[in-house]
Amino acid sequence: MTAKILDGKVLSAQIRNEVSERVAALKARGITPGLAVILVGNDPASEIYVRNKGKGCEETGMISRTIRMDETTTQEELESQIESLNRDPAIHGILVQLPLPDHLDENAALARILPEKDVDGFHLINAGHLLNGTKGVLPCTPKGALYMIRSTGEDLSGKEAVVIGRSNIVGKPMAMLLLQQNCTVTICHSRTKNLAEHTRRADILVAAVGKPGFVTEEMIKPGAIVIDVGINRVDGKVCGDVDFDHVREKAGWITPVPGGVGKMTIAMLLANTVDAAERTLEK
Ligand code: NDP
Repeated sequence: MTAKILDGKVLSAQIRNEVSERVAALKARGITPGLAVILVGNDPASEIYVRNKGKGCEETGMISRTIRMDETTTQEELESQIESLNRDPAIHGILVQLPLPDHLDENAALARILPEKDVDGFHLINAGHLLNGTKGVLPCTPKGALYMIRSTGEDLSGKEAVVIGRSNIVGKPMAMLLLQQNCTVTICHSRTKNLAEHTRRADILVAAVGKPGFVTEEMIKPGAIVIDVGINRVDGKVCGDVDFDHVREKAGWITPVPGGVGKMTIAMLLANTVDAAERTLEK
């Protein structure tokens, strides 16, 4: 079997088109959705992500504001910047680009963002909503990955889903979203014993590890949906966590890297920002 490709370019374009239409409707009512991205320091990968986010905003008609802060920024300065964006009516979404320099407290900074402006979905209130199954802002990467899984048209209820990785930004929320879809969910991590025994049961396998070629063909159930969240750089080339060339011969569906989940993450960020702007109309 050769897997069908879940094409992030095609799927994210669907979301971006919807976002553009919703932005036009908001503009007709006098509101232009605005996203502010705070970038502390000069991490080269972060620079690329921030640039792509800004580009996505412009292409869909939103305003994007990048706030660059020096590597030596203090916690107080960072939080005061967040507070000022919380008060700014032109800004509907606030994102603090991670990772922050080591001397800064990430959790304390994220807690400062108003939950309704937290378009990354990392605030504890939004994490709580996800756990509870109540309405909040969903984190962009797992939300985008779920969109890809649902685009297969397969009935997800009762399927075995295995997530490798338990970070707060990918692994845990991904597992929660799959649970909401009535999958039977297993979360694996670095202390998991006999990892391949778990993954070989998976109808849906999500890899969010950060190790190139980590998921091999022997770990795959024939016909599985394989979602590769990993973004790694090997010899200057971007690749995922999945050994794509071999795994695609066994899986039913697979996401490429690049051109997979990464595209969906940005599209979902734009969708979350337009959601936030629409919520201001309800007030
Ligand atoms: P983290 O480093 O926070 O988490 C990695 C997870 O992998 C941890 O839970 C870790 O387990 C687990 N792990 C590490 N080694 C093993 C192993 N040998 N066996 C099983 N599990 C293992 O990373 P993130 O969740 O932030 O990101 C994961 C990947 O996704 C990265 O490559 C990142 O660049 C990428 N990413 C991609 C995005 C996109 O838009 N496509 C967005 C965000 C991230 P433990 O908890 O025990 O240490």
